[in-house]
Amino acid sequence: MKKLVAGNWKMHGLSADLGEIKAIADASRGYSGVDVALCVPAILIERASRAVPDFAIGGQDVHFAEKGAHTGCISAKMLLDAGATLTIVGHSERRDAQRESDADVKAKAEAALSCGLAVILCVGESLEVRESGEAVATVGTQLEESLPHGEAAAGGVPERLAVAYEPIWAIGTGKIPTMDEIAEMHDALRQRLVTAYGPAGQQVRILYGGSVKGSNAGEIFAVPNVDGALVGGASLTAADFLPIVAAAAEVEGSGKAA
Ligand code: PEP
Repeated sequence: MKKLVAGNWKMHGLSADLGEIKAIADASRGYSGVDVALCVPAILIERASRAVPDFAIGGQDVHFAEKGAHTGCISAKMLLDAGATLTIVGHSERRDAQRESDADVKAKAEAALSCGLAVILCVGESLEVRESGEAVATVGTQLEESLPHGEAAAGGVPERLAVAYEPIWAIGTGKIPTMDEIAEMHDALRQRLVTAYGPAGQQVRILYGGSVKGSNAGEIFAVPNVDGALVGGASLTAADFLPIVAAAAEVEGSGKAA
């Protein structure tokens, strides 16, 4: 399966950073065996997509309603209108700070898919859950309850849905699970996807996220059922991000175009 390497810029990015986006997009063109995307702050989407029209620019969240009295929120249609082709939903920082439930995340994923956006749906456990030995069961249930269903999902799974496994304790900390722990979790998530979608569940990409860097990406991408990465801190500069894209290309055996 073609790997997807997506950057999550979180609350980083001003006009002055458009050059960095352009540098990432330009260099990514050389790795045709890897899908590359950057999810930038909503207010930067239009400028970024104009600067790099052939490159995937995404949002970091979306409201589940089409429109209405939701001050400060952004609909899927607005993201598309601004030039986004994908969005993250259910990032742990939003599940925590904005108290988003699995039901909210499911509704957001359904709204985004119905509108034609691709979706990166995040799940992941806290350190407490990891230490209790319940990580696989907890994240499996979280995925099951967050997955899009119905008409919205029918047209968009598997092509436009990706799941990102992001252990909360690994985000921005420099710590990562062991490769065996990643393999165990991704295998369990794959089984949940097949239960939910049948054979189409085999084609949904499962990304790993949490302290991915150029120095550990190759080892992570070689783990079975790791179909790419969601990258925070190391996606902010071309110098940090491109080695991760290169590692994905190398594992895929696609290398860099001459
Ligand atoms: C993220 O927040 O999605 C993330 C993976 O962050 P980092 O790569 O900085 O750990």
